[in-house]
Amino acid sequence: MAESCIFCAIAAGEAPAEVVYEDPLTMAFLDIAPLARGHVLVIPRRHVTDLWDLPSDLAGPLMETTVHMADAVNTAFRPGGINLFHSTGAVAGQSVFHVHLHVVPRWPRDRFRPPIVPDRSPDPELAATAARIRAVLDADR
Ligand code: 5GP
Ligand code: ZN
Repeated sequence: MAESCIFCAIAAGEAPAEVVYEDPLTMAFLDIAPLARGHVLVIPRRHVTDLWDLPSDLAGPLMETTVHMADAVNTAFRPGGINLFHSTGAVAGQSVFHVHLHVVPRWPRDRFRPPIVPDRSPDPELAATAARIRAVLDADR
């Protein structure tokens, strides 16, 4: 447990939260300031700062719980859709540095706008960008 991490405190039962799901590796609770009714946060129980810190054996359980929560929220509220989102790093908007996924129910004309830049156009540099990522992955093999 990381000192002064609010999500570690929630995972330890030492801070209040509306917990909706728990298993040995992960848990889910309502966001304290929801973007929509049923906005759930999914975390690993142990302290992991962000996506770069996430061990690969926790990635599966974290996503399984996320899908499970998306199903439960759908059955409970029947929203028109769901956005999943996640921020790693302050520059991406991360404000709590214990990794979490947001499950956000969506309704027509709601106020939430996903972080998608409008008016994008095809990029002539795609091949070079892909080559750079592939080079990293090849070096890791
Ligand atoms: P981030 O900005 O890091 O992607 O998301 C952090 C989220 O955690 C925010 O949506 C914020 O409302 C939520 N949050 C911050 N502090 C607490 C808390 O003490 N309890 C709960 N349940 N949610 C929190
Ligand atoms: Zn933590």
